[in-house]
Amino acid sequence: MSWWIADYEVPVEKSNRQFDNVSIIEIATGSYVKEAYYAIKLKKLVFYGEWISEETLVKLLLSLWVITAITVIISDRIYLHKQIKLTEERTQRLREANRALYEKSLVFEELAFTDPLTRTRNRHEINDGLSEVTAHSIDGGIPFSMVFIDIDHFKQVNDLHGHRYGDNVLRRFASLINKLVRKSDVFARWGGEEFVIFCPATPLGAAAEFAESIRDCIEQAEWDHDMKITCSMGVAELENEEYNHFIERADKALLKAKERGRNRVEIAWNESQL
Ligand code: GH3
Ligand code: MG
Ligand code: MG
Repeated sequence: MSWWIADYEVPVEKSNRQFDNVSIIEIATGSYVKEAYYAIKLKKLVFYGEWISEETLVKLLLSLWVITAITVIISDRIYLHKQIKLTEERTQRLREANRALYEKSLVFEELAFTDPLTRTRNRHEINDGLSEVTAHSIDGGIPFSMVFIDIDHFKQVNDLHGHRYGDNVLRRFASLINKLVRKSDVFARWGGEEFVIFCPATPLGAAAEFAESIRDCIEQAEWDHDMKITCSMGVAELENEEYNHFIERADKALLKAKERGRNRVEIAWNESQL
């Protein structure tokens, strides 16, 4: 304490004073001074060290401030630039992920609508649009026919040469028919060894002729192991009826073709034509 040092007259060199960071020099009296006139003589005040003028100090502080400001601005810009780059990269990644998802969804859609074995359309897709198309044909008085196809004795084909051979027959069977159908026709695998062809703007006679050409093509085709592959068909033209009833009539005609010896086309006549 300064009063203690003063009271005991501790010399400066023993008072453990620090003079390396002096910011203020004060000249003070002791604590209990009696009122009187005193003269304080300051003999010497010496400053050691480098002298910095006020102008230099201001310049130094100013440049320090400018350098700090520039550094802050530059580092801010670098940080911002990095953030923008990161955001751009993230956006790009998201865009790529989106594209991949979209492509995947297309594949799933294709799988949902396509029979994986024969690459023809499948029954689910047909059912969705059929009621609309048949209703439109009835309203517009436009003929609309269908062919119901079933491979003859296909179980024997599998039994004789195995399931894989049977699969190949199904694939080739579908591909042969695919070459015969028109662009406007809809060819689909109905299930197992059964297929359907819906023929818009086609009257019964033309559909029957078309079915006959398919029957002939399949019969004439050459198959591995010298197999003879034939198919039976039922043909129907849409009347003023629900599409389920229409398909049922074609199916019944197909059954008739089976009963009458297979490898043939039967027509589903409606009541008025009988
Ligand atoms: P029908 O002339 O009366 O139609 O006789 P069918 O033997 O063709 O008819 P059935 O209904 O008795 O047998 C159909 C066979 O088709 C039985 C089944 O194993 C086979 N099958 C169904 N789907 C597939 C398939 O995807 N691949 C193979 N290899 N065979 C199939
Ligand atoms: Mg069958
Ligand atoms: Mg069959």
